[in-house]
Amino acid sequence: MITDELPISKEFLREGEIGLSNDSELEVMRRYKELSDKNFCVETGMYPLGSCTMKYNPKVNELMASLEGFANLHPLATDEDSQGALELMFNLQEALKVLTGMDYVTLQPAAGAHGEFTGMLIIKKYFETKGEVRTKVIVPDSAHGTNPASASMAGFDIIQVKSNEKGQVDLEDLKRLVSEQGAEIAGIMMTNPNTVGIFEEQVLEISKIMHDNGSLLYYDGANLNAVMGYSNPAIMGFDVCHINLHKTFSTPHGGGGPGSGPVGVVEKLKDFLPTPVIEFDGDKYVRNYNLPHSIGKVRSFYGNFGVLVRAYTYILMMGNDLKHATEDAVLNANYIREKLKDVYDIAYDERCMHEFVICGEKQKEQGSSTLHIAKRLMDYKIHPPTVYFPLIVHEAIMVEPTESESKSRLDNFIEVMRKIAEEIKQNPEFVNSAPHSAPIKKVDETLAARKPDLRYKK
Ligand SMILES: *Cc1c(COP(=O)(O)O)cnc(C)c1O
Repeated sequence: MITDELPISKEFLREGEIGLSNDSELEVMRRYKELSDKNFCVETGMYPLGSCTMKYNPKVNELMASLEGFANLHPLATDEDSQGALELMFNLQEALKVLTGMDYVTLQPAAGAHGEFTGMLIIKKYFETKGEVRTKVIVPDSAHGTNPASASMAGFDIIQVKSNEKGQVDLEDLKRLVSEQGAEIAGIMMTNPNTVGIFEEQVLEISKIMHDNGSLLYYDGANLNAVMGYSNPAIMGFDVCHINLHKTFSTPHGGGGPGSGPVGVVEKLKDFLPTPVIEFDGDKYVRNYNLPHSIGKVRSFYGNFGVLVRAYTYILMMGNDLKHATEDAVLNANYIREKLKDVYDIAYDERCMHEFVICGEKQKEQGSSTLHIAKRLMDYKIHPPTVYFPLIVHEAIMVEPTESESKSRLDNFIEVMRKIAEEIKQNPEFVNSAPHSAPIKKVDETLAARKPDLRYKK
């Protein structure tokens, strides 16, 4: 029936032109292509972003994640109707158990930091259930900022342990902290290899000190790419860990996600996991909501399922070659480090794992700085590395090539970095005014972080 009455209130009615372009389809396509060409991505060039493991994300992952049965499955579908998805989640849990050595895994957390938070809640509830009051968590001074943040959000106080001259946890300082505040210490959070790309050689001793004190050890698995298939957090003596699927297991990240940070735990922490966990009852795959001490849900439904599909695809495609990824990641980082160390100072200059940290003090004395070196790399079609992190290295430039890069790409990066060092000697001003070729020149870093303006205005 047609009436004069409007189905929506007048105040919502458009008054003027809608403002859509009258361009042809071809022109619109060209416009979007032109805009996308302004973007930098791993398909454009090397992305040596330390700590972030920006490896190549195989396109087959996308294909699998977009299969209708996965992409269109409703999260409230019954177990019976979701057997394929549940099987995939179960198998992924099993694969991650093998790779981490942990006894149980939850796929729910949506990122690494979220996994840390989940792990900290598990540790907290474990001690609460035991009737122990432990309020403190030890975090090394080299740690990623999310570690103290996650522990603090979970209600712990943070105590910092120093790094020694090798860039590793200072054992004497740790022993002092444990002897002074032992009964209050719930655990320690560690990354291994740590954020300066160095393997913590004393990890077994650290594990013993903490366990003798009744504390637990949390493994930040962001750097698993350096040890995958060779070692694992369980062998190193950890009780809880997270894995960044979007780093080690090749799913696109940056620009805000989505990510996935599954958490693994040892046997005695199983009952504290978020529910549901995916199980196989001998006949079919089921969601188990029945864990007596569960910390509850940390994410709607079952985590970022699309990322799980991508990571599982990567693991199946790689098989035993996961070990080779580890080898090549470590080899590539050491190759670059060796080829740059006569020009740039390397913080903790010894054999590194999958990444290493340059200290740009020398270039600063010559009138430039780490920030400018990073910006200048953009002119050479290389994404800037991670800079000014970790905080314990002055003028830090953190380089992680990953296993994906070919030798000629690595050689190109080395050549460019050497060239920039030379440019700084000749004409620091020129380097300091870089990038000269990017669509947007130097931005106000603070303003860009606090009030990002991402609109395109012609
Ligand atoms: C990336 C990273 C994290 C945080 O992981 P997100 O997935 O970004 O939340 C934590 N620790 C280290 C060492 C990292 O590199």
